[in-house]
Amino acid sequence: MNSIISCKNIYKTFGKIEVLKGIDLSITKSEIVSIVGPSGSGKTTLLQILGTLENPDNKRKPELLIDNQSIMKLSDNKKSILRNKKLGFVFQFHELLPEFTAIENVCLPSWISKNDMDSTREEAIKILDEFDLLKVANKKPDEMSGGERQRVSVARSLINNPKIVFADEPSGNLDSENSKNLYSLFYELRKNKGCSFVIVTHDLKFANMSDRKIVLNDGKIIK
Ligand code: ADP
Ligand code: MG
Repeated sequence: MNSIISCKNIYKTFGKIEVLKGIDLSITKSEIVSIVGPSGSGKTTLLQILGTLENPDNKRKPELLIDNQSIMKLSDNKKSILRNKKLGFVFQFHELLPEFTAIENVCLPSWISKNDMDSTREEAIKILDEFDLLKVANKKPDEMSGGERQRVSVARSLINNPKIVFADEPSGNLDSENSKNLYSLFYELRKNKGCSFVIVTHDLKFANMSDRKIVLNDGKIIK
């Protein structure tokens, strides 16, 4: 099987509102997929479900496979282990921990997996260097620029060598130069590390560059 993530019968209701209305989707290893659609169409909800951060409605036999493993029956604990080992997340507002330096933020997911402190630090330094971030390694988020913060959050998403990186409007807060750099970074990472990317974006220029563009409207994939 060549797919790294696939889902079927994904519905999601909040209160009385059905936000996702039956999503079937499959993403190939190393594929870069963008998800576009109007505000409120369910993009973030879908990303959170694919990333196991949120559960789909149980009523219509939802299926979710990540790296050939069925997710729906896993305990919360097993899911968080899987998230930590196989998935990376990049958010619009970077969500770095303000009290920690860049290098500490990057190390965190690996420390959570109880990996060795010294080898984690070495790996973090390597990634920060690749991203031209050594100069901010010991700075806290409020001492960095927006582009630096966002690159640090990408570095953090990669420390455990994820198979899939989920990004929700990662360039929402960046100017066009920094957005361009961020997107080139995603392509480079795919090339060098082979990870897949699922990226919610408003940036049509980027969406059109991705391998595949999924258009969501009113909780359904229309294209
Ligand atoms: P998008 O990312 O495409 O803008 P979202 O997935 O964030 O869309 O939201 C889709 C709809 O679901 C919106 O109407 C939103 O208000 C609603 N929604 C999202 N999350 C929740 C929640 N936790 N509780 C209630 N309603 C929610
Ligand atoms: Mg959203």
